[in-house]
Amino acid sequence: MKYDYLIVGAGLYGSVFAREAVDAGKKVLVIDKRNHIAGNVFTEDVEGIHVHKYGAHIFHTNNTKVWNYATRFATFNRFTNSPVANYKGELYSLPFNMYTFNKMWGVVTPEEAEAKIAEQRKEITGEPSNLEEQAISLIGRDVYEKLVKGYTEKQWGRDCKELPAFIIKRLPVRLTFDNNYFNALYQGIPVGGYTKMVEKMLEGIEIKLNVDYMQDQAFWNDQAEKVVYTGPIDAFFDYKLGYLEYRSVRFETELLDKPNFQGNAAVNYTDRETPWTRIIEHKWFEFGKDESGNDLPKTVISREFSSEWKPGDEPYYPVNDAKNASLYAKYKELADKEEKVIFGGRLGEYKYYDMDQVIAAALEKVNEQTL
Ligand SMILES: Cc1cc2nc3c(=O)[nH]c(=O)nc-3n(C[C@H](O)[C@H](O)[C@H](O)COP(=O)(O)OP(=O)(O)OC[C@H]3O[C@@H](n4cnc5c(N)ncnc54)[C@H](O)[C@@H]3O)c2cc1C
Repeated sequence: MKYDYLIVGAGLYGSVFAREAVDAGKKVLVIDKRNHIAGNVFTEDVEGIHVHKYGAHIFHTNNTKVWNYATRFATFNRFTNSPVANYKGELYSLPFNMYTFNKMWGVVTPEEAEAKIAEQRKEITGEPSNLEEQAISLIGRDVYEKLVKGYTEKQWGRDCKELPAFIIKRLPVRLTFDNNYFNALYQGIPVGGYTKMVEKMLEGIEIKLNVDYMQDQAFWNDQAEKVVYTGPIDAFFDYKLGYLEYRSVRFETELLDKPNFQGNAAVNYTDRETPWTRIIEHKWFEFGKDESGNDLPKTVISREFSSEWKPGDEPYYPVNDAKNASLYAKYKELADKEEKVIFGGRLGEYKYYDMDQVIAAALEKVNEQTL
């Protein structure tokens, strides 16, 4: 055989695995059916702006080992995710914190905010029977109406009264002036974009793009002792037990001939009428500057729309419900019988992994190998 490992998928999982195996002296080939590396963290250069092609990606982790690993391949800037909510032209800070409550009610102290929330929660007596009641019982009607209702209804394509209460278990409420969305020890965006970081990971490794493993599985399996497969697990088995479902998102991306569209990386549109859920303005992930520190004259924005997933669409978020969990368990049984193949990553394990979790999982798996 020509290779020790054939890695199917040049996303983060495949790239971390490939790097470690090559550094341990193994012969590795990476293939991807797309025409680029980096999987869903791919960033494309448009007029000097690193556009997050498959959705906004913010690296955040509490795992020091993973942080030290990632920072071997990129310098991370100090971007902090602080989304803004736009409700019919009124702007609010997210996640819910003292800035939000001050704007909503004019309250100044944490005690005043707490009292206001407590008063509004009283409306719900007894066990909440749907998502609307659950949300009101957690943060009161005003925050629910302006910041939760429309956004959630757009995401799920259904009225909050028709959605089960358990979808919202908690709604984090901060009685401090803190707009930092992620409570992570480490957070940032790789300077120069994610593609550059993954290029560095794959440095010196043989890669073939525009190659679909499933088109000739037998041929590719013959190339290596072991296969690391990071595509969808159901696709590997030709969907013979049925399709696993995903939640999908549609992006409409536009280059604008102006330097500043919304002044923030993420603005959520929390009313029901605006059809998109949020707008990402990519340049603000890197403070509006190019790599030499110059201001960028143009801007790129992406409107995000929730959409129903159907077979053939881009698989984005695995669906965490009983039906899909039980179908995944059946595919997993089949996967366990494939001795030559390691199934890994977000699609291979049908798991909602964040980037740091996918790096940790790949490191763990590659360390289990007798390299
Ligand atoms: C919209 C969105 C936003 C996100 N935001 C964040 C965030 O802010 N922070 C965060 O930490 N995480 C975020 N994530 C999660 C992050 O994208 C994943 O953790 C990470 O990209 C998973 O890497 P992976 O290698 O498992 O999968 P992927 O990146 O999906 O890589 C799999 C690769 O396999 C290739 N492939 C599949 N089938 C085949 C085949 N048959 N032949 C050849 N190649 C194949 C695909 O083309 C793809 O390149 C987000 C995810 C989404 C969908």
